[in-house]
Amino acid sequence: MKIAVCPGSFDPITMGHLDIITRASALFDRVIVLISINVAKKTAFTLAEREALTAKAVAHLPNVEVDSFDGLLVEYVRARQATVIVRGLRAMSDFEYEFQMALANKRLNPEAETMFLTTAAENMYLSSSLVKQIAGFGGNITGLVPACIQPEIEARFANPSR
Ligand code: ADP
Repeated sequence: MKIAVCPGSFDPITMGHLDIITRASALFDRVIVLISINVAKKTAFTLAEREALTAKAVAHLPNVEVDSFDGLLVEYVRARQATVIVRGLRAMSDFEYEFQMALANKRLNPEAETMFLTTAAENMYLSSSLVKQIAGFGGNITGLVPACIQPEIEARFANPSR
């Protein structure tokens, strides 16, 4: 059984993330979407919110599960007997950071491979930050986030104190 992990902040999950997860789910027996608990990184959505939104967005994919982890990614990968870390690549600007992370992870866990999936052209400029900026000003985020969670994301920005 080939298990892949798709790690990230998912703050919140976008159509760019969902595209990568969907394509990974066709390549592997099981895909774990791993939400990082990075206390140093200030997120707009709490971990529980990010988990709930992500779980709803991938509910139609039977071989995909959502989990969270506070620690070294490679340790999680080892513990779950996963062999592949899947990351999405947008522009050249992603490349240097991703290359560094992939090499660091390879050093820490030589049995795990990092695999990059190229973004779909329509998601090239899409990021969680862009979604938060647009939603924060009450703009239209249709098509940028999965339709099933769009109302929750909009409501969150309409009532930021919640
Ligand atoms: P991180 O903070 O770890 O980069 P993100 O939630 O921003 O977490 O991203 C998680 C993964 O999803 C990364 O591999 C990132 O490159 C990928 N990703 C994010 N947005 C897109 C997109 N629009 N198209 C393709 N991949 C994307």
